[in-house]
Amino acid sequence: MDLKPLKLKRNEDRRLRAGHLWVYSNEIDTQATPLAAFEPGDWVEVLAHNGKPVGSGYVNPHSLISARLLARDAAHPISRSLILHRVNQAFALRERLADGPWYRLVYGESDGLPGLVVDRYGAILVVQITTAGMERMLEVVLDTLEKVVAPTGILLRNDSGARELEGLPLSVEVARGVVPDEVELEEHGTRFRVPLMTGQKTGWFYDQADNRGRFLRYVQGARVLDVFSYIGGWGVQAARCGASLVALVDSSEKALEQAVANASLNAVDVTTLKGDAFDVLRGLKADGETFDVVVVDPPAFVKRRKDHKAGLEAYRRVNQHAMQLLDKDGFLVSCSCSHHLTDHELLGVLHQASRHLDCNLQLLETGAQAWDHPVHSAMPETRYLKAFFTRIHQ
Ligand code: SAH
Repeated sequence: MDLKPLKLKRNEDRRLRAGHLWVYSNEIDTQATPLAAFEPGDWVEVLAHNGKPVGSGYVNPHSLISARLLARDAAHPISRSLILHRVNQAFALRERLADGPWYRLVYGESDGLPGLVVDRYGAILVVQITTAGMERMLEVVLDTLEKVVAPTGILLRNDSGARELEGLPLSVEVARGVVPDEVELEEHGTRFRVPLMTGQKTGWFYDQADNRGRFLRYVQGARVLDVFSYIGGWGVQAARCGASLVALVDSSEKALEQAVANASLNAVDVTTLKGDAFDVLRGLKADGETFDVVVVDPPAFVKRRKDHKAGLEAYRRVNQHAMQLLDKDGFLVSCSCSHHLTDHELLGVLHQASRHLDCNLQLLETGAQAWDHPVHSAMPETRYLKAFFTRIHQ
């Protein structure tokens, strides 16, 4: 495919030269290279205002992020072989560091493949494409994954809302081979069965794997409450690793059923509480229930910048409810996967909640997304997960 020129306004190459990969629509010299001349997914060579090449990538004239870079080296522009090189690089990292064949294999921009996420479940890969540029390269991506990983099946979970921003349709389909409804994985010695077609995101939250490992030292002999449990990622591991009692809270009946199945798979028991977490926690308080460890791992409450204030308040409230359920000197593990919320802000609302209850909060450990979701050092957008391990005492 030919590379079309995409010219930037004066000085708008600076962020890219500092390592960032995105070109916003207002940074383009649309007199020189009108956006209307591009189809979504066209390959482009990005040029500084003086005509010097900055790198190559793909464009979407209908998106606020108009172009994303895949390559800087003019000798190796965006191409089939570049995709292979990037996937090989991503695979090499995971093969080096992973305990087993269960991990995020490709994490978009951080692995030099903007718009592509691939999670590995043993012999099955789940692919999520979020940009028109990556969508155009779908067949190349699938061929490459087959070549590098030799999976028995590849599922496309193209049902993420991010696709709508790029004007892409939503669908879930088997792209290659055979894909079962459920797969099994192992994390820190606990087994989980994961629903691939209907589960949240790609089925499993690999980003919390390291934090869940860290959590296990807190659970021995403890009564544990796992809030926003999904299929039991934290709670079932706690039960298997010596917790005396585990209760899971989620609004999804299906997720809780799967969590119970996962507990049985590991020969342990969990109790489930279905409902809105805010209501369930209030109900537990009213009933005088207490726990030694509570983990709060909610969906993103701040999805867009404009949700910031309401989202922050939701984090404060749910964490305050959680603190009220802690027995003397209990542990609260509080997480946030909101890009738009800083570590400082989350810790701030935890602090506020603790003071409101006349308690002190000790920050014991700080966790982030696991290593298979690497952070791109020029792109703060690639760093999103926060996990604070705290003790609440009087
Ligand atoms: N802790 C999980 C991931 C949580 S994903 C893990 O480590 O695997 C978020 C979960 O919150 C989903 O299962 C979703 O069903 C649930 N959820 C979303 N809003 C909720 C609410 N208001 N009350 C209870 N559960 C909710």
